[in-house]
Amino acid sequence: MPETVETVFTSVVNRNPGEPEFHQAVREVLESIGPALARHPEYADARIIERICEPERQIIFRVPWEDDHGRVRVNRGFRVEFNSALGPFKGGLRFHPSVYLGIVKFLGFEQIFKNALTGLPIGGGKGGADFDPKGRSDREVMRFCQSFMTELYRHIGAQTDVPAGDIGVGGREIGYLFGQYKRITNRYESGVLTGKGLAYGGAQVRREATGYGAVFFAEELLKQCGESLEGKRVVVSGSGNVAIYAIEKVHQLGGRVVACSDSDGYVLDEAGIDLELLRELKEERRVRLDNYVRHVPHAVAVSGRTVWEVPCDLALPCATQNEIGGAEAAALVAGGCVAVVEGANMPTTPEAVRILAAAGVKFAPGKAANAGGVAVSAMEMQQNASRDSWNFTQSEARLWETMRDIHARCWATAEEYGLPGDYVAGANISGFRRVAEAMLAQGLI
Ligand code: GLU
Repeated sequence: MPETVETVFTSVVNRNPGEPEFHQAVREVLESIGPALARHPEYADARIIERICEPERQIIFRVPWEDDHGRVRVNRGFRVEFNSALGPFKGGLRFHPSVYLGIVKFLGFEQIFKNALTGLPIGGGKGGADFDPKGRSDREVMRFCQSFMTELYRHIGAQTDVPAGDIGVGGREIGYLFGQYKRITNRYESGVLTGKGLAYGGAQVRREATGYGAVFFAEELLKQCGESLEGKRVVVSGSGNVAIYAIEKVHQLGGRVVACSDSDGYVLDEAGIDLELLRELKEERRVRLDNYVRHVPHAVAVSGRTVWEVPCDLALPCATQNEIGGAEAAALVAGGCVAVVEGANMPTTPEAVRILAAAGVKFAPGKAANAGGVAVSAMEMQQNASRDSWNFTQSEARLWETMRDIHARCWATAEEYGLPGDYVAGANISGFRRVAEAMLAQGLI
């Protein structure tokens, strides 16, 4: 990091104490945009990086709700409106007990560059709550969502800030949030949330988009090395929305996913993960993954160990941040892995990235590889604005084209700055430059 950038980073750490995930995300970007800063002294004059690292607005609010026993519960809600240079703030909501301001800021910061990479007119933001949906009844989840929206509604809007889902927030939650927004405002503003159900303004392929998009990116990356997914052995972490549709697309493109995981452990099925069963367990019954082996006797459930110990050609981390540390990266290298493509946000630690790079393993960062979700969200906004709806085939083709463009943009930018094959630098520099140019053009705001 050049000295001036180091000073900015130190100030970010000092101004945002106790937020290691945010520091990690900022460091990763600042470490790789040096070549762009050297070429564009006007960014330093306008204090672009200082301004990009400071959210435009941060909202923290109380979320009171009543559980099924009539007990009052209180959670904390967040929305960080990070950067609107390219369009309305855009990014998901995460409901998970680990959520606090530092997590929301890390995710919001990543979202700025990810959204820029899509080439679509969307700014960056993120939100959520420290609510744990695990074990909560449907009515409890509904009451929580209604209370959350009772505060959030005043901060969002189709032209202002457009939330969507993330961990713990899927179609069900978006439905309850949308219903409450409509009731409070008396406006059927379809474009205020994305990830809506197909029955009321949702877009085809939105549900599948993040997982499918990550696999399309992996296919492009492999193509660049003269390979393809055909016949590849793949390991996926997670068993939520991103993982499920990543598995589906790997299978459609001729690869075989032999393992996936949840917070309790992983399942190994050498015949290839049975997707129908996985969906039934995780999307319908919402039970632990180890139930899989009751239905598939030849499969093995392993608890308390990492899924990355399973040898594979391709690793798709689709669970959560920092799930691949140094030890897991070493295990992947030992297992013969040739590429890691991030379906989740920042699942690979900086130490792990270094280990993978030293071993020559290709690495695609989430802000490029998982941008398919938010890209299809932007397409949902387009459809809502024109009161249109596109069919599945058309939407999937647009997604694939977008992922191909993002891959090409990362590749070309890395080449242009003398760092061939470095997807981290390519993604960060390309996303950063688009935001920086828009900020410069809009003056000191
Ligand atoms: N939460 C997703 C992400 O990390 C999607 C955000 C959106 O669709 O707005 O990109």
